Amino acid sequence: MQNAHRIKQEICDIGRRLYNKGFAAANDGNITYRLNDREVLCTPTMHSKGFLKPDDICLIDMQGNQLAGRKKRSSEALLHLQIYKERDDINSIVHCHPPHATAFAIAREPIPQCVLPEVEIFLGDVPITKYETPGTQKFADTIIPVVKDSNVVILANHGTVSWGETVEQAYWWTEVLDAYCRMLMLARDLGKVNYFTEQEERELLETKAKWGFRDPRNEKRMENCDVCANDLFRDSWTSVGVERRAFEAPPTMKRVGASMAPQGSTGVARSNGSPVAAAPAATADQEALIQTITDRVVAALQNGAAR
Ligand SMILES: [Zn+2]
Repeated sequence: MQNAHRIKQEICDIGRRLYNKGFAAANDGNITYRLNDREVLCTPTMHSKGFLKPDDICLIDMQGNQLAGRKKRSSEALLHLQIYKERDDINSIVHCHPPHATAFAIAREPIPQCVLPEVEIFLGDVPITKYETPGTQKFADTIIPVVKDSNVVILANHGTVSWGETVEQAYWWTEVLDAYCRMLMLARDLGKVNYFTEQEERELLETKAKWGFRDPRNEKRMENCDVCANDLFRDSWTSVGVERRAFEAPPTMKRVGASMAPQGSTGVARSNGSPVAAAPAATADQEALIQTITDRVVAALQNGAAR
């Protein structure tokens, strides 16, 4: 049986990391953990996530009723509970307003894919859900169409929500996403974003499958798609108000094995958007990068198993 006090302590620790990273201003953000199919630990409302004590954590049921705790539960509990109802394979959820990812939420700019190995391995395509007033069931329901195909979601004009088996894992995906959004903005300001070739992207997706991480892009329905140009969630873009404005679409890929396929990354100039072949990328660099990711994942899994 799990130790509820230890999990409350972990929620406090992750709350401090959220606050120190600037992901949750004032009393923003909330964290939950599902103890069993009837009880969920939940951070309190109107309380900074940077200064939580285990005693501050509430206990609620699957309808959002408070079962224990001297402080009132977060008003965003319904969002968390809806995600738990849709995903019985995860136990913790982190919601916050990290500035770089939230900038994409406000601009309603889709997250470009095929740029950074960590993002392809750990996140995959990141959806943006429709805006609704926070705290309502209608808001909680916006997550339903995408919740099975992702582990982190951008909430339009609001923030992010991510989930995992542990509190720390649920937090990781938010941190990976916000760092990525920041890097994208910096690279764009330098004038150019380089995208992987199809072969480079397929190698990452194969690695991901080997490690046992699910990715809808590896499944039948995406088999013959241009893997970088076809965002898994593009069908929802019109209704959500999402449109590519700040970043060009990745260039259409040449099929793997095509004789004239360029080696290395394909560059897209921001000024006119015409595909430009970049200098050949060193294959050794790519392999070293994949090795680095492997080492990190193994370390993370060992770390998780030791808890
Ligand atoms: Zn919020």
